[in-house]
Amino acid sequence: MRAAVFQRAGAPLVIEQVAAPSPGPDDIILAVRRCGICGSDLHMAEIHGDGGGMAPLPAGAVMGHEFAGEVAEVGSAVQGFAVGERVTALPYRACGHCLACQSGRGYRCTQVRYTGLGQEGGAYAEYMRIGCHETLRLPPGVDFTRGALVEPLAVGLHAVNAARLLAGESVLVLGAGPIGLAVTLWCRYFGARHVVVSDRVPERLALAERLGASATVDATREDVMGVAKRHAGKRPEVVLECIGVPGSQQLAMDCAPMGGRIVNVGVCMAPDTIRPVKALTKELQINYVFMYRRQDFELILDLLDRERIDPSPMLTREIGFDDFPTAFESLKSDKTACKVMLRL
Ligand SMILES: [Zn+2]
Ligand SMILES: [Zn+2]
Repeated sequence: MRAAVFQRAGAPLVIEQVAAPSPGPDDIILAVRRCGICGSDLHMAEIHGDGGGMAPLPAGAVMGHEFAGEVAEVGSAVQGFAVGERVTALPYRACGHCLACQSGRGYRCTQVRYTGLGQEGGAYAEYMRIGCHETLRLPPGVDFTRGALVEPLAVGLHAVNAARLLAGESVLVLGAGPIGLAVTLWCRYFGARHVVVSDRVPERLALAERLGASATVDATREDVMGVAKRHAGKRPEVVLECIGVPGSQQLAMDCAPMGGRIVNVGVCMAPDTIRPVKALTKELQINYVFMYRRQDFELILDLLDRERIDPSPMLTREIGFDDFPTAFESLKSDKTACKVMLRL
């Protein structure tokens, strides 16, 4: 089968013929139809030595963890899925039976193996292996493209849940990449009064407005906190940090009000310096979030099916294998694009 294969840090992916996966008893072989390129894939492809705690990708790895496709083959113990069904899956394989798995947090299972991060082949390929415990059917109203947006939407939903947002509160979203945009959508959905979104790229701010931002800040020329205060009438109660570069956590602390809540969802792999006294004197509540629960996927699939949310502005374009390595490279520097998807 064809796959976009990682070679080494900083080098482009190469389309190669690789061995197709075969299913274990609890596995499903998925014929991939769509897979989104994630910012963390771009990071992973550039890690040389110190990845800030992340293991470097081995040569030959196939990335891709935001996918949807058709069931091509089922393992001997799999029940409830048939060849040809349209599905998506959480991007890991786990036991399916322990407390963590049963509570929808299979990424805390002792047997977890992540998909597309070097442990298990990902969805930048014609076929991939997924676990039957992590697989979810796409409802009739959810096409493959939207099915592949469920994962980034789930990252945003999990972050907004962690913020314990109350309807009528105001929010400041730092960063309008795919995750900042997903966070913006959910803040609006859950009734935030004002959603102020900052970024340095005008194209991304325009997308934020389409996804529900009530005001945007161009951080290259405007004062983030000043605009947020002016628009919301006071400092927003909740700050969602979706940038993930050195300095962005401090910016969140500086912008937050007394007793404010901060959720850090931006993935920062570099060392960073913060001034804890700022958080201390403001008595900030600071959370970090990782992944999502299976229940988040279920809710999102249902809301997409009933057209209660519309993430379509997030999709920039879909491309085939031939254009994929070039598109992947250009995303490393082009910050005007949002979600670019492999289409098979
Ligand atoms: Zn991702
Ligand atoms: Zn488990």
